[in-house]
Amino acid sequence: MGQPKRLFITLTFMSITILAILFFLVWFIPFVGLKTISPFMPLIFGSLLVLFFMVILFGTSVIIIAVWRGKDFGFSYHLRGAFIKILFPIMIFLGKLVGIPREKVQQSFIEVNNQLIRSKIKPFPPEKLLLLLPHCIQNFDCKVKITGNIYNCKRCGKCKIKDFIEFAETIGIHVAVATGGTLARRIIVEKRPKAIVAVACEYDLTTGIQDSYPLPVLGILNERPFGPCINTTVDVKKVKEAIFDFLGKSMDDIDKLKTPVYIKSKVKKISNL
Ligand code: SF4
Repeated sequence: MGQPKRLFITLTFMSITILAILFFLVWFIPFVGLKTISPFMPLIFGSLLVLFFMVILFGTSVIIIAVWRGKDFGFSYHLRGAFIKILFPIMIFLGKLVGIPREKVQQSFIEVNNQLIRSKIKPFPPEKLLLLLPHCIQNFDCKVKITGNIYNCKRCGKCKIKDFIEFAETIGIHVAVATGGTLARRIIVEKRPKAIVAVACEYDLTTGIQDSYPLPVLGILNERPFGPCINTTVDVKKVKEAIFDFLGKSMDDIDKLKTPVYIKSKVKKISNL
C-alpha cells in the first residue's frame, strides 16, 4: 500500500478516536443534569450518541476497506461526499496538529478520491469527458495565448500541450487550459462534462475536487522540476490511464486508433473499438 493511503488510514483512525472521546464527554458532562429530567434520559441520550458514532464508524470503515482492497465495497463510492466534506477537513486539522505537511495530506486526499472513483467507474462517451490542464504546463517563453482556446497552440512540441491536443483529438475528448479555479469553473459550465481528468498541484486539485463534487474528478499531480508554476510537466501515461478508465477502455485500445481524427468522427471511432 502506498504512503498516501497509509496516511489516510492513520489520520482516519485518529479522527475516530478523537470523535469517540468527544462523544463520551458530550454524554458524560450532562449526565447528572439529565437524570433530573427523567431517570431514563441519560440512557436515551447515551444510546443516541452511540448510534450516531456507530454510523460514522461504519461509514469510515467502508471507505477504509474500499481503499485497502482497491475496489468498491458496498456503497463506498457514495461515501465520497462524506469523505470530501467531513473527513478531509478533519484530516487537515489533525495533520496540522501532529506536524504532517499539508501537501502530504492533500496528496493522500487525491489518492483516496481517485481510488473511490475508480472503485465504481462507469464508462462515459468521450465527448462527455474533459481534460483540464494547468496554464503552467505551457512553455514559459511561448507567446501563444491558449487559455481562451487551447487550439491556438502552434504545436511546436516545446511543451506537452501539443501532445495532449493530439491525444484529445484522437479519442474525441474535450481539452482546456485553466489559469485558476474561476476559469476552471467557467470551462466546466461551458463544456458540461460528466467526468473530468484534472492535472494540477496539490492545492488546485483538492479545491477543484471539492468544488466540483458530485462530478467525478480524477486528479493527476503535476511535476515541478523548475519550482511551482513555471514549466511544469506531468506523467502523460498517468493522464492517459485516467482518461481510459473513464472511457472504460484499456491503454492498448489507443494503438487501434491509427491516425488522429477530429472530434465528431473520432467519437464514433472510439465507440467502435
Ligand atoms: S506546444 Fe504549443 S503551447 Fe507549447 S510551446 Fe509550442 S506552441 Fe506553445
